[in-house]
Amino acid sequence: MHRRDWLKASTLGVSAAALPLTQALEAGAFAQGFGPQAAAQGQNLPGLRITDVRTILTQPAGIRLGVVKVLTSEPGLYGLGCATFTQRARVVETAIDKYLKPFLIGKDPLQIEDIFQSSFVSSYWRNGPVLGNALSGVDMALWDILGKRANQPLYQLFGGKCREHVETYCHTNGRTLVECEQAVRAARERGFRYIRAQIAVPGLATYGVAGAAANDNIPPNRRPQLWEPGPYVRLVPKLFEHLRKTIGDDVELLHDMHERVPPILAMKLARDLEPFRLFFLEDPFAPEDVGYFEKLRPLTTTPIAMGELFNNANEYVPLIANRLIDFIRIHLSQIGGLTMSRKVAALCEWFSVRTAWHGPGDVSPVGHAANVHLDLAIPNFGIQEGRDFTQNEQDVFPGCPLLRNGAYTASNRPGLGIDINEEAARRFPITDDPPFDYRWGNYRRRDGTIVRP
Ligand SMILES: [Mg+2]
Repeated sequence: MHRRDWLKASTLGVSAAALPLTQALEAGAFAQGFGPQAAAQGQNLPGLRITDVRTILTQPAGIRLGVVKVLTSEPGLYGLGCATFTQRARVVETAIDKYLKPFLIGKDPLQIEDIFQSSFVSSYWRNGPVLGNALSGVDMALWDILGKRANQPLYQLFGGKCREHVETYCHTNGRTLVECEQAVRAARERGFRYIRAQIAVPGLATYGVAGAAANDNIPPNRRPQLWEPGPYVRLVPKLFEHLRKTIGDDVELLHDMHERVPPILAMKLARDLEPFRLFFLEDPFAPEDVGYFEKLRPLTTTPIAMGELFNNANEYVPLIANRLIDFIRIHLSQIGGLTMSRKVAALCEWFSVRTAWHGPGDVSPVGHAANVHLDLAIPNFGIQEGRDFTQNEQDVFPGCPLLRNGAYTASNRPGLGIDINEEAARRFPITDDPPFDYRWGNYRRRDGTIVRP
């Protein structure tokens, strides 16, 4: 039976939501979700229940991705969400399959806020990346279900488009000033107006530059990663001086410090870069050093982006409310999915902080679709980290957002507008012990001291 025929054939039940609270509790309404029939009555639709929650792990581009599929009592109606914590993918899978799934079966998938709130506290201990990703995967899938049921793309349910397309920035790098310049020029020719530039520091394992170190013949997860902050903070201003001199002002330039230097050097670099007018300087401090932002603000007008490692509201709310950053960089599936990121965007709006959601290869195409729907609908959008999807990714995820001329567009299909071909996904099973498992724990100073990545 087709989904629409099934809808017509279904009958309505009594509304638990119409009961007083005590009677509703006695009737077990909250345990099952308390308002599906009431919500459905207005549309002449039957109530919905969650019937299954599945985690799909796949790596079509060599990076482990986690995707959640929430199935419902309506035949053919399901939702997808991104739960990608690539370094610890199997732990997230366990959190979903062993703990969240039994908590959710039988609930109304359209009670998105209540499921978010109850799932968030369901483990008592909370606010970590594993449970955050598990919760986010479910949350995005519920929004996808809502969109499909309403037959509307998600950006429409978020209030409609504030813009026609989503400007993105791309990554460039090089081993020399001239290589970096050539990479920026090539990105501009591909249509990008916002370009991140990273340069290799000779002899050091520099963030954002593949093959920067001399020991590339050692497997990445056993490779010692030598890092010293001094040469890096002396070289980066020379890079941006070179780019402005050779390419000019007609391009927005970005740089990611990746939290790798002592705070006092980060403050010096932010000041040294001010003449070169960055669009933003990312992650000058580690999340553990957020207290330095109030010291940095009076020193420089270099715009600051922060936050891809943030997990919980206590980490970012003070930075936003005290106007200490210009762009919030959080990873949607780390902090609680669309439900939480919509609130973060709204909070930022009151403090003129713009969004720059995290969007590298370890966000699944489902997560990128969520980014794009949000980007289209929020007034305080800043920029989106974007990427081209490989053919294998497009085969596994039909409906990947389209990146053209430096910008994403979203499909007008209902919900997130993206699907998963599970047979194709099985052709790319995840592998254990790839570089992502341990690479971040191997960066050390010359004397052996571990460095934050
Ligand atoms: Mg970053």
